[in-house]
Amino acid sequence: MLYGIIADIHSNLEAFRAVLDQLSAVERIVCAGDIVGYGPNPNEGLELLAEKNIASVAGNHDKAAVGELSTQWFNINARLAVEWTASQLKAAQADHLRSLPINLELDDFQIVHGSLRDPLEEYIFSLDEAEESIKLMTKPLCFVGHTHRPLYAGLKPGGSLDGRTLGKNDNVSLGYYTKTLVNPGSVGQPRDNDPRASFGILDTRKKEFVLRRVEYDIEAVQHKMLAANLPDYLIERLAIGT
Ligand code: ZN
Repeated sequence: MLYGIIADIHSNLEAFRAVLDQLSAVERIVCAGDIVGYGPNPNEGLELLAEKNIASVAGNHDKAAVGELSTQWFNINARLAVEWTASQLKAAQADHLRSLPINLELDDFQIVHGSLRDPLEEYIFSLDEAEESIKLMTKPLCFVGHTHRPLYAGLKPGGSLDGRTLGKNDNVSLGYYTKTLVNPGSVGQPRDNDPRASFGILDTRKKEFVLRRVEYDIEAVQHKMLAANLPDYLIERLAIGT
């Protein structure tokens, strides 16, 4: 089975559409959370997610936008964007956000936004930081988001950890590992110095994950953010992928 694996869409409709175009051949798409926040199209992003029948967990921005998570640990730009998002959300879309689970378990893998230890707020940037979550995995494969940086960490049969950051077309042979944790990067706000939208494809038959990138109309998103008075820093970072 082919799955599209996405995360951190962040109300970026142009990036989301560009990624969906690339995923026309997959049977199912799943999302590791942060559908909203930062970008200019929260309602449209949620509508498209529902239309494409994409199962998603909640991210910290999704919960903060509907008042279910405090923004005290958010930086000022993230907090301003959460407040703007909350002011824009239609009732049906806010209900959709409230209904999102924190953890999802499918036949082939688990999915959370941050980590298995702290699904909404812990960041996994490194192999060391992946270790505790790998211990908590109940399936051989787990997808996370939150850092906006593509990465994998695999537990080898001997017990040691292997892994690295992932660039365009990098693949991970899942058969080498007893457990693998993978971050597909961010659709709507990449932070690994590559501004192209990031996503992945899981092939369960080949036991392989491939990281993909696709260009999208960044300027169109920036114009909408400017018109919505969203913070300059959030507008500028899209063009450089930080
Ligand atoms: Zn995020």
